[in-house]
Amino acid sequence: MANKMMAAVVEAFGKPLVMREWAIPTAGDDQIVVKTEACGVCHTDLHAASGDWPLKPTLPFIPGHEAIGIVTAAGKNVTIVKEGDRVGVPWLYSACGHCEYCLSAWETVCAGAQFGGYTKNGGFAEYILADPQYVAHIPKGLAATQAAPLICAGITTYKGIKQTEAKPGQWIAISGCGGLGHLAIQYAKAMGLLVCAVDIDDNKLALAKSLGANLTFNAKHGDPAAALKKETGGGAHGVLITAPSLIAFKQGIGMTRKRGTCVLVGLPPGEFPVPLFDVVANCITIRGSFVGTREDMAEALAFAAEGKVTADVELQPLADINRIFHRLEHGDVAARVVIDYMTKPVMPTPQHEEVYAH
Ligand code: NAD
Ligand code: ZN
Ligand code: ZN
Repeated sequence: MANKMMAAVVEAFGKPLVMREWAIPTAGDDQIVVKTEACGVCHTDLHAASGDWPLKPTLPFIPGHEAIGIVTAAGKNVTIVKEGDRVGVPWLYSACGHCEYCLSAWETVCAGAQFGGYTKNGGFAEYILADPQYVAHIPKGLAATQAAPLICAGITTYKGIKQTEAKPGQWIAISGCGGLGHLAIQYAKAMGLLVCAVDIDDNKLALAKSLGANLTFNAKHGDPAAALKKETGGGAHGVLITAPSLIAFKQGIGMTRKRGTCVLVGLPPGEFPVPLFDVVANCITIRGSFVGTREDMAEALAFAAEGKVTADVELQPLADINRIFHRLEHGDVAARVVIDYMTKPVMPTPQHEEVYAH
């Protein structure tokens, strides 16, 4: 096993990941190597492994973009971080640094951006190669397993809420109360918003309520737009759609108040119909939002460091990844599963592929 690590690898789209040995990366002059302590399992990893999106990763690849770990090696040009630092390796793995978007602090839409666990290997492995310019700096006192969900689910929802432009005292509707949504509720409350949580699962709505949601609606029993409009006196000023389901997008626009903003964050494959007359006549803004910038990252982590946002995590070993994906696909994860490399070491056996296939 010298110079080898274990990784969960996508070898074919739509097939179980394969637990196998992979070479431990070595740092180039401008790179760092991070020993993974924890990595959250995002629904995006499932889309990636299924090949759901138009831009597909090159096979084979290692998913995982909520990775937290300790820097074990730094190239000779690296000054921003040093060995022993705790960092996060997020979805925004790197960007060009000089295009119009990078220069205006919109590095998330840089055409040269690389994506962790997608175009670059990610955190479903014991070590990760990273670009020190783009890693998250984890505040002292925040455990790796706690920080992991924040570097995708946290930053994405925090940024998405900001993009709704809803102000303290106004309503925000959050559709989808899973990994992203349960953090969105907490950020929204901490930002002074009134929260209306929407999901199709009563357990998720019970969690939403316990996290401070003012109203909850189960969309399984029909479109919640009319009831939500009644309860909020005209609809939510901001709507954040995290649900990986196309119907939720159409419903989200229906929940938006006149002159409100509906922010699209969930990424199910496909398209959804936009009720043009309603959007035009009610002056509704529909806006896409993609993870967040490094500035958003620092802000999103600061809420957690202050104890205002706490991820609800279930810790599992890496070797359980196919079972976790299966559960995520069927809505059977309470909030966020985090792969814990510290207390649940990866212990491969020859039977792994079979045992952990779904
Ligand atoms: P998750 O599986 O943890 O949570 C999804 C939640 O949506 C579940 O609670 C589920 O019950 C609920 N849901 C399903 N159908 C619904 C419906 N019709 N109405 C309301 N709720 C419904 O997934 P996650 O990790 O939170 O990710 C959610 C989506 O966000 C995925 O598509 C993922 O790819 C995407 N995502 C986007 C970004 C971005 O930058 N835009 C970042 C991360 C994740
Ligand atoms: Zn993610
Ligand atoms: Zn750029």
